[in-house]
Amino acid sequence: MDTVIIREINEANLAKAGETIRGGGIVAFPTETVYGLGASAYDAEAVKKIYRAKGRPSDNPLIVHLSDVSQVEKAAREIPETAQKLFDSFAPGPFTVILKKQPDIDDIVTAGLDTVGVRIPSDPTARAFIKAAGVPIAAPSANISGKPSPTCAEHVLHDMTGRADAIICGGNAKVGVESTIIDCTGEIPTILRPGGITLEDVISVCGKGQLDKHVLSSVSANEQPKCPGMKYKHYAPDADVTVVEGEKSHTERIISDMVQEYKRKGNTVGVLAMSDIDFGADLQISSGKNNKEFAERLFGALRKFDDRGIDVVFAQFCMEDSYGLAVKNRLYKSAGNKIIYTEKK
Ligand code: AMP
Ligand code: MG
Repeated sequence: MDTVIIREINEANLAKAGETIRGGGIVAFPTETVYGLGASAYDAEAVKKIYRAKGRPSDNPLIVHLSDVSQVEKAAREIPETAQKLFDSFAPGPFTVILKKQPDIDDIVTAGLDTVGVRIPSDPTARAFIKAAGVPIAAPSANISGKPSPTCAEHVLHDMTGRADAIICGGNAKVGVESTIIDCTGEIPTILRPGGITLEDVISVCGKGQLDKHVLSSVSANEQPKCPGMKYKHYAPDADVTVVEGEKSHTERIISDMVQEYKRKGNTVGVLAMSDIDFGADLQISSGKNNKEFAERLFGALRKFDDRGIDVVFAQFCMEDSYGLAVKNRLYKSAGNKIIYTEKK
């Protein structure tokens, strides 16, 4: 398939991308969280193309993207008070609300669920593109399934050239991890996936909120998580990742020892480092000075380790702050839950 690459973002080009959507095509587009791969949420055949292009399991639903809060009723048949409060306070922004589905939204979008994930991105290009399409856009992240989500145009060009009808090349994703998913269909708003909007944010506007038990723990084979995406190994680079978590100096000592040991065994070794000491690895990438920067850099760093053919990566985690949960959730998954705790928790 020929992919149209849109490098200049202007009204005429976004209008063309909108036409592609209405014509049943799939288009990759930037958002503030990660890049998405979109199709009309009303068009089952177009949505099927997304699953095919990504190699995505068909029981993992997509999120419906809208240009404005006034459009939410196109996707959802009910807006509970908690959801309304979240939209009033944080929309447009990096979160998805799970609501009861409107029948017009095709079942293939929601993988047969009676609920739908609704999101209003804040990125101006995303909003202009959705508006130009004139229909709700069903979109997951624009990566090949199982690989780190794309946070810049180069990642999308790498994964989706020849698979998407068009790619809109915008800037780098500012948040860098996918949207917070908040289930508002029950009494207490429940975070199914952590992200840029935190549990504290949810509690501050709704007066209540909780984390789903699968936010940090892995899902066992006989469990059916509320967020189907939780079952799958996500964000996994080719390199074998281990998280080293705990007090900073302890993590530094363990990682330094591991780097030497694995190099001796003949591996190329990478470190994703919160500390700025030199760990002696073949490739060391800084995760920044706090977890907000870590979130922004994480997926790009995982891809860089693969580009350089790194065999083994140690990711240092030694700081808890409001973005810590979003970072840890992705780190644990990219490591397939291989975690070394350097002190008793
Ligand atoms: P992605 O944008 O690639 O991260 O994929 C969308 C994520 O949203 C996946 O983890 C889905 O499982 C989740 N999701 C989408 N719709 C729903 C829903 N109705 N209920 C729970 N989770 C959902
Ligand atoms: Mg994804």
